[in-house]
Amino acid sequence: MTQVTTKQVKQAIRDGHAWPGGYTIFLIADDCQPVCTKCARQEWKNICDSMYKDIKDGWNIIGIDTLQGDKEHEGDCTCAHCNIDIWTI
Ligand SMILES: [Zn+2]
Repeated sequence: MTQVTTKQVKQAIRDGHAWPGGYTIFLIADDCQPVCTKCARQEWKNICDSMYKDIKDGWNIIGIDTLQGDKEHEGDCTCAHCNIDIWTI
């Protein structure tokens, strides 16, 4: 997997949704759990810390993805931290 940079994560948090398409952006942490951009914004310091020091504590972002299609076909996507249904963001 390509290394994600803090710059890319920051941009993803700022955007929230992909353009074009308007797909909801979410982050994938080192434990392979999805993290919503709202949590990522709140925990930005933790994310930077974990990414710079390569700490595997669930805040080390390894991927940026978007939700495309619909929940029925793609399955659940729930934030590992606030338990929000990312489809509803
Ligand atoms: Zn969240």
